[in-house]
Amino acid sequence: MNMSQWLRPRSIFSNFSNTSRTIAVWVGLAVLAAAFPWVSDTQAAASSGESRHINAQRLQGNLEKLSEFGRNPEGGVTRLGFSQTEMDARTYVTGLMKEAGLEVRVDAAGNIFGRRAGTAPLPTLLFGSHIDSVPHGGNFDGTVGSLGAIEVIRALNDGHVTTQHPLEVVIWTNEEGPHFGISALGSGVAAGVLGPEILDRKDDVGLTLADWLRRYEQDPAHLTDARIPRGTLAAILELHIEQGPQLYETKVQIGVVQGIVGLKRWKCIATGFANHAGTTPMNRRKDALAAAAKDLLAVRDVVREEPGRQVGTVGYMKAEPGAPNVIPGRVEFPVELRDLDAATIERMWEHIQQRFAQTDKEEGVETRCAVINDIAPALSDPSVQSVIREAARSTGLSTADMPSGAVHDAGEISRLAPMGMIFVPSRDGISHAPQEFSAWDDVANGTEVLYRSILKLDKQMNAR
Ligand SMILES: [Zn+2]
Repeated sequence: MNMSQWLRPRSIFSNFSNTSRTIAVWVGLAVLAAAFPWVSDTQAAASSGESRHINAQRLQGNLEKLSEFGRNPEGGVTRLGFSQTEMDARTYVTGLMKEAGLEVRVDAAGNIFGRRAGTAPLPTLLFGSHIDSVPHGGNFDGTVGSLGAIEVIRALNDGHVTTQHPLEVVIWTNEEGPHFGISALGSGVAAGVLGPEILDRKDDVGLTLADWLRRYEQDPAHLTDARIPRGTLAAILELHIEQGPQLYETKVQIGVVQGIVGLKRWKCIATGFANHAGTTPMNRRKDALAAAAKDLLAVRDVVREEPGRQVGTVGYMKAEPGAPNVIPGRVEFPVELRDLDAATIERMWEHIQQRFAQTDKEEGVETRCAVINDIAPALSDPSVQSVIREAARSTGLSTADMPSGAVHDAGEISRLAPMGMIFVPSRDGISHAPQEFSAWDDVANGTEVLYRSILKLDKQMNAR
């Protein structure tokens, strides 16, 4: 898609289309705006009875500017974590944070924090996302939650609103993780699940993570200084695009994330017997690939057996020796299961193993599987979920509770503090691609909900 198509400035009323009560009010405002073009969104919206605090125009402008860093000819961006492109983008975003009056610091993992003081000695309300992308990614993943967080601060400043809790905007480093093969790197270090063991990892050109941290003006020897001490955070919030089709297809405006699904992966080896494909009769074969193919379908059957949003995938199959005239004697394949409930994953796996054993018998092969990855689900805090739900309702927006099938930084930090996530719709459910798009109205809606959630949490958490 041509970037200029969506970079076109929209009417200052673009963020009303979801919320306007009556055509009359809308037209009235349009007339008013034509007469008084300097009237801001916030002021104009106030008269509609559904006052918006955030400035949708300013947010869109900043997102469009950010999209220039690493822009690809086909649209979207390539802005890998730990790259010159990301460094330039970080400079731009740090500038925005300073403009918003935030006190900026960078931790030893390269995470950027911008602090706004509170009026009481309380733990910090932390919110933000990431600005790195996958190769040939889109312009909304991570950036909406990052610049949305800065917009929340700008809106608080505009309204002269103070909070009791200190507020911090965070831009996490290398969330996507194709560079160095570690997802949620910055937040993982902050949460204490990653440490110095990752420093010697090399990238394709032979640079280590330690080398890159030095380029980001950090001392790798102090990496663990980036760990956030327990008790210093009141809560962690992240606004993000859904990256799936549910909100878009059901026309729901705000997703209240129940948690980030857990994930378990196994590597399986099916061992049969490699033999001549011309001379071995069909009833005398031990075809490892035929068995693995049945296993793949068994995974799908089991995952589909019960209602729910659990998913299961066999991502590849490596058959050996891999010749057209040899019966495959050995096949390697992974099984990946994801769900919000770790017990569901275990139950499905038990059933899958029974099916594998049955196939082994039928095909004369032996299949063995070993766990290679086990990430527990990260559940959202129920009270933070209700704060988000109320914030959305007070803005006149529809909500749906939903799990996140993708990994997010907030999930890592949920080990340290109550966590909540706000999702906005992704057009056609497309993400990690140049076609990734969220309507500007939806981006503004999510940011307004973030604004209101922060203020609600500020009141509520102190009252506890
Ligand atoms: Zn993301």
